[in-house]
Amino acid sequence: MDVSHILDSLNTEQREAVTAEPGPLLIQAGAGSGKTRVLTHRIAWLNQVENVSPFGILAVTFTNKAAGEMRARVEELLGSPIGPMWVGTFHGLSHRFLRMHWKEAKLPQTFQILDSEDQRRLVQRAIRGLALDETQWPPRNAMWYINNKKDEGLRPQHIRDDDDPTEQQMIRIYQAYENACQLAGAVDFAELLLRSLETLRDNDELLQHYQNRFQHLLVDEFQDTNSIQYAWLQLLAGEKGNVFAVGDDDQSIYGWRGAKVENILNFEHDFPATKVIRLERNYRSTGNILNAANALIEYNEDRLGKNLWTDIGDGDLITFYSAHNEGDEARFIIERIMEHVHLGGARAEAAILYRSNAQSRAIEEELIRSGIPYRVYGGLRFFERMEIKDALAYLRLISLSDDDVSFERVVNQPPRGIGDKTLSQIRTVATDANVSLWHACAEILTANALKGRASTAVTAFMKLIMQLRKETEGMSLDQMISHVIEHSGLLAHYKKDRTEKGEARVENLQELVGAAMDPPDLPEDMPDMTVLDAFLSNAALEAGERQGDEWEDCVQLMTLHSAKGLEFPMVFMTGMEQGLFPSKRSIEESGKVEEERRLCYVGITRAEKKLYLSMAEHRRLYGRDHFNTASKFISEIPAELLQEIRPRMHVTRPMAAPPAIKRSKIREDNSTGLTVGQRVKHSKFGEGVVTDYEGQGSHARVYVNFEEVGSKWLVMAYANLEVMHIA
Ligand code: ATP
Ligand code: MG
Repeated sequence: MDVSHILDSLNTEQREAVTAEPGPLLIQAGAGSGKTRVLTHRIAWLNQVENVSPFGILAVTFTNKAAGEMRARVEELLGSPIGPMWVGTFHGLSHRFLRMHWKEAKLPQTFQILDSEDQRRLVQRAIRGLALDETQWPPRNAMWYINNKKDEGLRPQHIRDDDDPTEQQMIRIYQAYENACQLAGAVDFAELLLRSLETLRDNDELLQHYQNRFQHLLVDEFQDTNSIQYAWLQLLAGEKGNVFAVGDDDQSIYGWRGAKVENILNFEHDFPATKVIRLERNYRSTGNILNAANALIEYNEDRLGKNLWTDIGDGDLITFYSAHNEGDEARFIIERIMEHVHLGGARAEAAILYRSNAQSRAIEEELIRSGIPYRVYGGLRFFERMEIKDALAYLRLISLSDDDVSFERVVNQPPRGIGDKTLSQIRTVATDANVSLWHACAEILTANALKGRASTAVTAFMKLIMQLRKETEGMSLDQMISHVIEHSGLLAHYKKDRTEKGEARVENLQELVGAAMDPPDLPEDMPDMTVLDAFLSNAALEAGERQGDEWEDCVQLMTLHSAKGLEFPMVFMTGMEQGLFPSKRSIEESGKVEEERRLCYVGITRAEKKLYLSMAEHRRLYGRDHFNTASKFISEIPAELLQEIRPRMHVTRPMAAPPAIKRSKIREDNSTGLTVGQRVKHSKFGEGVVTDYEGQGSHARVYVNFEEVGSKWLVMAYANLEVMHIA
């Protein structure tokens, strides 16, 4: 059989790994050295050369996206579908296992998966069932406790309470929650893994079957496996120990979530006679990028140590841009992307990375303003996020009590005891009388048609909205939003959630206040519009703007964490500021900066050809002003690899001047009906010349250089421009 297509494109060490004899094998190698590539080629090798049936192969990785890519690459190599091969994430594969063996797992056939919100509610119910005070035992904390224990493989009966009353109470909550789950036939995320581990462990026959079936187990991103995932692998591998693990200790970035980089060290011990292979040649990045990454990670003391080299050539220097503020930073990035596109590059080749989710807002705003399609990978766009929609719903309701959609959204958010029954009563009255829900509430209350508790709750809600309306009168937009998120109870509600998600939500809410400090311009021809109206409709437009389709050429936005394993020709690492990245918290807690540095290493090593690092000297984030110095990581990159670009002088005007290349380009996406060079007249600004345009449909905008007032971007839909014809 001709297997040259499997081995041709591999170097000696990679070949050695791909063709290794069965048995435990650990690839401990740096970023871009071909670990994932070796893993997929190994699968092809096993199947086509060693004649291992697809039935006998299980490959696991970290994210759904990575699993999807792995599947596609294997199919390409095999030239056929993967069939019965198991390729997926730990959660995905556990789920598959439990669906097949629900009986042995003691689950109902139709068991449901709980998302984190469902889980919180069920934990809350358990707490109430124990007649505990929720303020003293917040459901979020208990949920966090339970998930941690499950990730450690611990059931309530396994936990030692050490006579600690808090621990004892937590164990009771855990037990009550577990009973509730079992009763409801519900399984949370951590349970997927724990339950399938236990089911395998406690059913000899099943275990034998799967140990025999899966001749080969392959794991990518091994450095980020947690205790239970590791135990699951060990169990499935059994005596023969055919585990092919690939990882990089320098890219371990989920320690805060229970990942154990020690698993790499334990591996050789737990799987005797492990073959260890190192890959040192990097195929992804230019020399300058790679040297920057190598130099940076050297600052970490706690590492296994390795060095990467490349013969791709030095390539461009790394560009460092210190912007005046976050808007300036975003515009700098967008101009670079536009230049890249003008030179024939694709937008999808550019990835914009940031440390925390809330940072995407300023970037998204400029992308939308410039009409550049983008996709937020692994998350929602800013204005689509749950907590932002909650806050906006309050604002809308304050501005218009008849807004039923907003009413529905926040009437019981944060929870205030208005249940489904009461709500459906309100809805019926509203439908029958053809009035808004707000109106219906008033009627029901007047008619005394609600029971005691419900009546109190609804009254309190209406009072709250009216009170907020009164209190915020005359406030500036940012004061108003800040007031509303606080006094509506939203902020406190999300603060209770101590998970990463909860923290991101609080940050996003604070960022919304920040967004309001810089309110949108009022459309010139709509004098009646208030700043709040303009802000809300802006938000609606931004949320409504379609997320780029799969096939559309989009700029990629994502957090540094979700960039793991991916590669892009052009990478922007934003917010390179002390206190943001590395984060303030990591600076304060000892030993935490190393994980931040690994994250920085992950970011740098995503870049193939061009890497941009940027910071904002003044950043408004979470509604606060920060005056920043450059991240210490910048100073850890050898200066000779960096090229610093100074900001331009004009930063107050958006897109101070459209890049020259855009002006000369004939574009087919012109939906303004105007052409560059055309003379136009505006009722207020007088006469001017069109120098650029962008956007589609209702978002179409033109850039006009007015004789009297200089250049301005105008929204076509509002501008009412008169076209001047040459006589
Ligand atoms: P990461 O640590 O970021 O996950 P990795 O070690 O998994 O990286 P891969 O993504 O497998 O690295 O490979 C990086 C890039 O180098 C890919 O584009 C891959 O196709 C290419 N590559 C790997 N090995 C070779 C090779 N022998 N010849 C040519 N290209 C290669
Ligand atoms: Mg990889």
